[in-house]
Amino acid sequence: MIYFIALIQVICMQIKTEEVLSDLIHKIIDISGTNIWKCYQCGKCSAGCPMVDFMELLPHQVIRLAQIGKWKEICEANTAWICAACLTCSVRCPRGIKIAEVMEALRQVVLRNRLSNKRLNISEERIRRLPPIALISAYRKILE
Ligand code: SF4
Ligand code: SF4
Repeated sequence: MIYFIALIQVICMQIKTEEVLSDLIHKIIDISGTNIWKCYQCGKCSAGCPMVDFMELLPHQVIRLAQIGKWKEICEANTAWICAACLTCSVRCPRGIKIAEVMEALRQVVLRNRLSNKRLNISEERIRRLPPIALISAYRKILE
């Protein structure tokens, strides 16, 4: 039921050109090196992901929201931080989309742009000084 409601919310979202063409979406695409527009929403990535029970957005929903430029929603969700980088989704994707790399790109975009994320309860000063890879590995382990 929760998944169904989340799906309806995604379907009912307004698509804005400026969001689809936003710099942040293009950064996520550049860093991940994957063409998110090849996704046809089959859901095989989410069906195989071992972490979906803990994610606010499922992997295929993250890809769909990225396609329509909703960077704020995907950056604020806990999904990228819960992702264990196991690569199951990437292996299962019939379209060759590197979903695990998209999750990594999302983490980098949030950290590099100092975007607010309710999961990142850490001072800006520390974020500036710590190497991003240290933050990412630490947060993967300590987040719920
Ligand atoms: S498996 Fe690939 S094509 Fe299917 S929903 Fe996931 S990203 Fe899209
Ligand atoms: S890489 Fe992340 S999103 Fe993909 S299946 Fe593994 S935990 Fe799920």
